[in-house]
Amino acid sequence: MAKRRTTGPAESVRQLVYERDGGHCVRCNSVHRLTIHHRVNRGMGGASEPWINQAHNLLLVCTTCNSWFEDNPRKSYEAGWKVRRPQYPDKVEVQYPDGRRYQLTSDGVRALALGAVR
Ligand SMILES: [Zn+2]
Repeated sequence: MAKRRTTGPAESVRQLVYERDGGHCVRCNSVHRLTIHHRVNRGMGGASEPWINQAHNLLLVCTTCNSWFEDNPRKSYEAGWKVRRPQYPDKVEVQYPDGRRYQLTSDGVRALALGAVR
């Protein structure tokens, strides 16, 4: 594990993410052992970008899925659970347990992605 810095998301943002994701893991729908996952990693220098600790870069996930993302990067990038720099997390849709893809905003809104409607 990397050194933990005291630069995580504010308590109000954590609450926003928890409510947006309905108290369920965004991958497996579990309600147990939940944590906040960063889609774009905080990186070597800590949280340099202002959006790194904002709601659109954060997902509510269980600890099992949090490790799964690290073991399955390709699938995680495809589903939007992870986002690769220089892409921005509000430009990459995220797959939720209902099988649909959503666009996330910094103020904690989750909107059905336009591309998902056929
Ligand atoms: Zn999970």
